[in-house]
Amino acid sequence: MKNCLFCSIINQQIPAAVVYEDEFMLVIKDINPQAPVHLLCMPKTHITGLDTLKENDAVLIGHIMLKISEIAKQQGLAEAGYRVISNVGQNGRQSVRHLHFHLVGGRELSETLG
Ligand code: 5GP
Ligand code: ZN
Repeated sequence: MKNCLFCSIINQQIPAAVVYEDEFMLVIKDINPQAPVHLLCMPKTHITGLDTLKENDAVLIGHIMLKISEIAKQQGLAEAGYRVISNVGQNGRQSVRHLHFHLVGGRELSETLG
């Protein structure tokens, strides 16, 4: 999708620190990390957010969630715990309209969600 920051990263037009990649998804380090580990996990296909998911995206989303669980273990987060967040739309303060899941950990996170 033109004019989409994350599509440009997926297409390697904009550089990013890639942590994991397969046919379906990309995981990169957030440019402005909020915790010692702050990764962005996204599908390679352009989906604007959780609000526009379709029935046939279910397998893709399941795959992404399983990989997030694996990557959290690889990053050493599993024992102490971590948080997975997807901001949606204006009230959710989604700044990049390409579906992504923040994987945040490495310190105790705040009690509130926002
Ligand atoms: P959102 O606010 O949409 O939930 O999250 C977007 C995230 O993308 C933010 O945490 C922001 O720091 C990150 N971000 C914005 N621009 C870039 C970029 O060019 N590269 C990387 N790696 N992350 C970015
Ligand atoms: Zn996109």
